Amino acid sequence: MSRRVLVLGGTAEARELATRLAARGDDVTTSLAGRTRHPRLPDGEVRTGGFGGVDGLAAALGDVDVLVDATHPFAATMTEHAAAAAARTGTPLLLLRRPGWTAGPGDRWTRVGSLAAAATSIPAGARVLLATGRQGVGAFADVDAWFLVRAIEAPEVLPARSQLVLARGPFALDDERALLERHGITVVVAKDSGGGTEAKLVAARERSLPVLLVDRPPLPVGVDVVESVDEALARLQQRAP
Ligand code: NAP
Repeated sequence: MSRRVLVLGGTAEARELATRLAARGDDVTTSLAGRTRHPRLPDGEVRTGGFGGVDGLAAALGDVDVLVDATHPFAATMTEHAAAAAARTGTPLLLLRRPGWTAGPGDRWTRVGSLAAAATSIPAGARVLLATGRQGVGAFADVDAWFLVRAIEAPEVLPARSQLVLARGPFALDDERALLERHGITVVVAKDSGGGTEAKLVAARERSLPVLLVDRPPLPVGVDVVESVDEALARLQQRAP
């Protein structure tokens, strides 16, 4: 029986999940925040833009059988809103959150609690690959270092000494190696996003470079969490109304 599934998207996992749900006959809509101008789109319906807080999302859940929060691990506000709106309306909620990265031999990672903490941990005079996405760049505006800022679209603020590279991952390991070499990078700053964008971490390990890895925000309490698209599909199958 076809179900109406609302997927909160903005990740590769959300796109894959929506496409596979549509292929098995569910009535799936993916919601995108509208941050990128040319997003990669899943199969099924797509709606774009904020809901207008918890109230707006709760109203939008009126004809939804299952809500899947497959947003990025750092989209903490949307995840909180999803939990609150699902609880208020009694809508089943599944949270799809890919695992974070784990340090291996040779990694020189320092975990920090926030972008602001990463900014204060950068040694003076460093040459930094800043791969934390467009929205967090402002936290580094006053840091005494040179930045190679990589983002899908241009940030509003750039550090005084910086170069912008517009690019969308995932990135090949050879390209990451070449990037670190070409720009004489001495520190990498990244979010613990998990998933397939870890080539920069491998390239940093090979060069024994320190990495400042920003920890994920905490998950809402009491929400059903799965870590992969396969797990999400299995869980949704069990929950057929
Ligand atoms: P956020 O701070 O958690 O959310 C801020 C507001 O943006 C939300 O309150 C909501 O507005 C709107 N919003 C966020 N995700 C939405 C979605 N999927 N559909 C509709 N509205 C959404 O989110 P963010 O960190 O800005 O991320 C925005 C989007 O980019 C997310 O979809 C996320 O998956 C994706 N993304 C984020 C990152 C990251 O590092 N944060 C990286 C890659 C992709 P209303 O309150 O008006 O509903």
